[in-house]
Amino acid sequence: MTTRRPLIAGNWKMNGLQESGAVELALLQQRVTATRPAAEVVICPPATLAANFAVQVRGSGIGIGGQDCHVKASGAHTGDISAEMLADAGASHVIVGHSERRADHGETDGLVRTKAEAAHRAGLTAIICVGETLEQRDAGRTIEIVSGQVAGSVPEAATPANTVIAYEPVWAIGTGRTPTEDDIAAVHAAIRRRLADWLSQGADFRILYGGSVKPSNAKEILALKDVDGALVGGASLKAADFWPIVEAAG
Ligand code: PEP
Repeated sequence: MTTRRPLIAGNWKMNGLQESGAVELALLQQRVTATRPAAEVVICPPATLAANFAVQVRGSGIGIGGQDCHVKASGAHTGDISAEMLADAGASHVIVGHSERRADHGETDGLVRTKAEAAHRAGLTAIICVGETLEQRDAGRTIEIVSGQVAGSVPEAATPANTVIAYEPVWAIGTGRTPTEDDIAAVHAAIRRRLADWLSQGADFRILYGGSVKPSNAKEILALKDVDGALVGGASLKAADFWPIVEAAG
């Protein structure tokens, strides 16, 4: 088994304008360049900011990611952005299958898998999101649902170098609620087992936890076995909140 470097990724969602965004990014950049943290740091801003952010962070070790990509490289798809365009803008990562995209845009596991393949085609690391709804959790179906999403959303050719899994319980996103540490550990272990049984390097994939991670709970969550980092929404918008989470990763 290889060492898995923790990854702390910030998902800015539909938040951030050029000037205020650049200020927060600069604050984060100062910390990262001064400290060289153990964790890999990636910020996924709105697509409008990606190119400028990529220029701004050059040489700092911070990666820039997209929040979604189309399956095709180019074409008549008004409003969409391809993985190749993200790479051209300087991105190194892209989130695919976030539960907000699955819910708002009807994205299925099959589509998410094709988007991850598009990311790989463009040389990007795909951060593939999975997670159960509250109804599914209450019905005791969490492991079944999440394992099914992993099987359906992760391409067979995925490797630990080009793919990261993010376990994000839908009911924990933006709500301030988190699963118990035992529950997080159990789901991460199940995902790792599923990957290890299926793919030759399956045990080496990084598996992030996402859902209301904040400075006050990051250390406990990131210390859990099989948790290799975090995908952070609300607490990634301000460097003052995001940086302690990066530090908590070791
Ligand atoms: C997310 O949207 O990926 C997320 C984890 O959001 P939050 O941290 O705000 O719950």
